Amino acid sequence: MIVLSVNAGSSSLKFQAFDMPEETVLISGVFERIGMKESFYTIKLNGEKIKKEVELKNHERAMELVMEELIDNKIVESLDEIKAIGHRIAQGGPYFDKTEEMTDENIKKVKELSVLAPLHNPAAVKGIKAAMEVVPNALQTGAFDTAFHQTIEEENYMYPVPYEWCEKYKVRKYGFHGTSHKYVSSRMNEILGRYNTKLITCHIGNGASVSAIKEGICVNTSMGLTPNSGLMMGSRCGDMDATVITYMMQQLDCTAEEMDTILNKQSGLLGISGISSDSRDIEDGIKIGNQRCNLAQKMFTNRIIDHIAKYYVELGGCDAIVFTAGIGENSIHTRREILDGLAVLGVKIDEEANDCRGIERLITTEDSSIPCYIIPTNEELMIARDTYALYQQKENKKELEANEII
Ligand code: ADP
Repeated sequence: MIVLSVNAGSSSLKFQAFDMPEETVLISGVFERIGMKESFYTIKLNGEKIKKEVELKNHERAMELVMEELIDNKIVESLDEIKAIGHRIAQGGPYFDKTEEMTDENIKKVKELSVLAPLHNPAAVKGIKAAMEVVPNALQTGAFDTAFHQTIEEENYMYPVPYEWCEKYKVRKYGFHGTSHKYVSSRMNEILGRYNTKLITCHIGNGASVSAIKEGICVNTSMGLTPNSGLMMGSRCGDMDATVITYMMQQLDCTAEEMDTILNKQSGLLGISGISSDSRDIEDGIKIGNQRCNLAQKMFTNRIIDHIAKYYVELGGCDAIVFTAGIGENSIHTRREILDGLAVLGVKIDEEANDCRGIERLITTEDSSIPCYIIPTNEELMIARDTYALYQQKENKKELEANEII
């Protein structure tokens, strides 16, 4: 059965078509500059990449082209074969703790949550509406970045601010990257061959977060109301003294919006190094003795070590630590620094094993107190799995109802 996984941004739309339950990727693509001049899309099929320059008036046009590509490349003969489409949605607030069908009522909730994710949720709604127009008979689901973290207890998700802020303005920790943390933690449990585990998962990309997971349930995570909390990131500051913000707004005489831009786009690795938000550039800077790159890297890894240590205590031990996403999967240097920082806990790096990129692998020695692994993430597959499971549930229910009526 064909299931599509869709990730719509304000001017982009990415998709992957899976054959389920085999989980084979049949075709994938990215539409860019939707609603702008010089729009185009690229399709990946049979290991080949094809770029097409076309006018992409809106998300609906992009969705129509997805369907044309599926038919032209003989992935499907008719659109009726596409039974379900899963959409990635950033913010599910307190409403969604799992992937859900996108009914009118649920779409309304996603829209309502746009105040908390003004760039992301409206784009997701555009993607859902476009898919509904183009494939009206398919099940549309929403997979939320926040859903996996909804199991976090109140004492961990509340902020120590006036209580009404949470009640009235929904101010609390929601966490993000949930689909990725869920995917790598379930894979980690598969590798360990048991599910009663305590795991610390580190999704370290341009955006970065760490989660503490006990028996498959998330008990804490480093991102908060927005993705700008917890770790230092490519261009985000993460946690710091909150008063710095009001103090610097007075000093710079800037608006809340301007401050938001500085803290999200001009801070982190970029802010400290003054060179780049990309960890490869920071590593190059370190090689030629750039002191600010050195400082940026140290601050970056220290915060990851701090969070791992904190979650080690919170979980009461740890059965495995997982590294994933762009830096976690690829940066030999960053992983080494983090594991060296954890030596006090008895973690021992296997230098030879760590000397790799983008593959699933154990990177600590046999006698390390905690085994540490690289597990490449696959959010698209996780969305397709959840969507397929929801589709099966609905079909089973329909069958039961039909039998009862008979
Ligand atoms: P996001 O999805 O948050 O945009 P990614 O997970 O794609 O981010 O990660 C992007 C980060 O991964 C960048 O900082 C990039 O430098 C880093 N990265 C990718 N490949 C390598 C590599 N070979 N060595 C070090 N860092 C890498």
